[in-house]
Amino acid sequence: MLFDYHLHSHFSADSEMTMDELCQASIDLGLNEIAITDHHDIDYQDDTIEFLIDKEKYLMEIEKFQQKYKDQIKIKKGVEIGLQPHILQECREYIADDFDFVIGSFHTAEQADLYNGDFFEGYSQWEAYIQYLKSVLEVVQNYDDYSVIGHLDIIRRYGDFETQPELLENKEAFDLIKQILKVIINRNRGLEVNTSGYRIDGKNPLPSFEILKLYYQLGGEILTIGSDSHNTEDITQKFNYTIFRLKEIGFNKLTTFANLEPKFHQI
Ligand SMILES: [Zn+2]
Ligand SMILES: [Zn+2]
Repeated sequence: MLFDYHLHSHFSADSEMTMDELCQASIDLGLNEIAITDHHDIDYQDDTIEFLIDKEKYLMEIEKFQQKYKDQIKIKKGVEIGLQPHILQECREYIADDFDFVIGSFHTAEQADLYNGDFFEGYSQWEAYIQYLKSVLEVVQNYDDYSVIGHLDIIRRYGDFETQPELLENKEAFDLIKQILKVIINRNRGLEVNTSGYRIDGKNPLPSFEILKLYYQLGGEILTIGSDSHNTEDITQKFNYTIFRLKEIGFNKLTTFANLEPKFHQI
């Protein structure tokens, strides 16, 4: 069973891949199932780009390809929704019960963008990381309309720093991550392993294997794998290696979703 659960089509402002190209490439790779997870970021603070999806159009387009390729691949209705403490009610309303799978992601913190660096203004590296984690904790304590939290330690990718340390090395960050993981587990939610993370230091997905180990030790079971592809070449990038490492940690299954319900598959 092979699946990629984080894929962006041209419904995301930062991808030009059509859904047809995405589906065709996934079939060519021999995948049994994919989740298309385009961006929906409500009140995104970078005005130069808009990550909002017309849900009706989007879901209709997915249905078209579900039909077209029904004998070759299962295509799930996913979304990657940008979470922030002040828009949670709007996120809930947007999700409704219309998706199979929802990645809850943090692309901003304290109403400032991570990608363009605004959030880091005035903070030292660790101050920024700690503030980011506090804001993630606040959200997961108050919101559970998602299936998995996307690229949990993405903060390491951004900011203009010379090193990208493992967040668990810092005591305060360790405690916050542990609390975040406990809330996720207690609420029957999961984590994604995002293989675009190898672009940072070549060694780890997002979150890092150390964080995944802690998740496992705390009893975390719901785990999806996704490449976060914005083009056909990245689909399933580093999956074999990642699954090998996950098994070393102790994980023996990965998760897919249908109507927001998890389904487990032996790995
Ligand atoms: Zn993302
Ligand atoms: Zn993404």
